[in-house]
Amino acid sequence: MFNVSTFEDVICGQDEIDLIGSSLSVFTFFVDGLLLDTGPRSFEQDSAKFFKNHPIAQVALSHVHEDHCGMASWLQKNMGVPIYLHKGAIEEASKRADLPHYRLKIWGEREAFSAISMPDEIITPRHRFEAIDTPGHCAAHMVFYEGEKGWLFTGDTFIGIRQQVAFREEDLSQTINTLNNLLTLDFDTMFCAHSGVLNDGRRLLEQKLNFLTELQEKIWDMEDQGLTIREIDRILFPVSHPISDYSEGEGTSYHMIKTLSSVRKST
Ligand SMILES: [Zn+2]
Repeated sequence: MFNVSTFEDVICGQDEIDLIGSSLSVFTFFVDGLLLDTGPRSFEQDSAKFFKNHPIAQVALSHVHEDHCGMASWLQKNMGVPIYLHKGAIEEASKRADLPHYRLKIWGEREAFSAISMPDEIITPRHRFEAIDTPGHCAAHMVFYEGEKGWLFTGDTFIGIRQQVAFREEDLSQTINTLNNLLTLDFDTMFCAHSGVLNDGRRLLEQKLNFLTELQEKIWDMEDQGLTIREIDRILFPVSHPISDYSEGEGTSYHMIKTLSSVRKST
């Protein structure tokens, strides 16, 4: 069921899917004419109504994954609004995504759309959002910072603290740099595309950073003892996460360890 809630003048649209026995939410945020991420195509029946009921003037996307921009082509066709995206993802967005079966089944198609290169700032009548380059979850990822309010719209930079798998496009060493950069900003409230509005956003990002840096130190120690990435993976994650099979090997603890390891520096 598509839920609508508000936080100050931010209107939050949320729906969820069932993923191997647990539910996974996706949020889209509308504030002062600006839509931040669109949600997936599989939510179209309800999210299209939500979009029609709000005066959307511009759209900014955190990244080009189908659960964040699956409705971008619909918004372009039906509402004719400008859609901003990291310049490194514009070409990919211009073609329909060739998705693996399991992602297609959960999120639906990600049709082609033509995006405009993300400006440094997105201005709305009452707000100013700084667009910040935040590689890690994928190379071309943006978060949006409203400094007056202390709001940070984090796309897929947070999701949760204790990450158990990384997807092929992820680089967790970059995520560590990104989290360090974001923690220099003055903010409290985090708007996460999968966890919603989190009042203690700063503390949560700090906890995620600590989790990843501690894991990285452990990995480096094990590498110093002569263990390979595969061996470290077997020791730290002896049981394969269910998402690894489900995602046809796209999301694994092995990839998480590899991108945190020192081997990464030479690859
Ligand atoms: Zn993503």
